[in-house]
Amino acid sequence: MKIRLYPESILRKKAGNIKNEDIRKLSAAMITAMMNNRGIGLAGPQVGISKNILVISPQASPDMEVPLLLINPKILEVSGESKYEEGCLSVYGVTGEVKRSANIIVETGLSGERGERKIIKAGGLMATVIQHEIDHLNGILFPDRMAFPKRAWNLLKSRIKRKKDGKY
Ligand SMILES: [Zn+2]
Repeated sequence: MKIRLYPESILRKKAGNIKNEDIRKLSAAMITAMMNNRGIGLAGPQVGISKNILVISPQASPDMEVPLLLINPKILEVSGESKYEEGCLSVYGVTGEVKRSANIIVETGLSGERGERKIIKAGGLMATVIQHEIDHLNGILFPDRMAFPKRAWNLLKSRIKRKKDGKY
C-alpha cells in the first residue's frame, strides 16, 4: 500500500461507510503499511481507500498491546482540551501544534443488521490520534486545525517544497 501525499485529491474527499467483508484483509494491510512507515495511526484515504476505516498503533497508549481498528467511527462525546505537536504520513515530514479534545467517546463497528457497534473511551495521545484519523475520513488535514490555518499552510507548503527539493 502506497501512502498518498498532500496535495492528492483523495485526501480531501469525504470517505464512505464501509460495509463489505474485506475489512479483515484491508485492516491487516493497513496495519502493515502503518508499521512500515512508522505511523501511529492510518486512515483509509491515506492509502487510497475512500472508506471509513482507520487503524491506531499500540504506541498511542500504554494500555494497548495490539493495533486498534475503527470502522465507521462516530464521536459521541468530547471533553477537555489538549495540545500536541502533530505530524502526518500524508503531509510530508512537517509538524504543527493542534488543539483537540482531551477525552473522547467513540462508537465504532458495522451498522445495520449485522451491526455490532462498540463504544471506546480514549484520552491523552490516543484521543488525539483518533481525532486526527477521523478528520482524514472527512477530508481534513491537521494544518486545517492549527491556530491560523492559512498561515500554517503557507509555511508548511514552503517547508514541504524545500524538503522535496532536497534543501533542508
Ligand atoms: Zn494524518
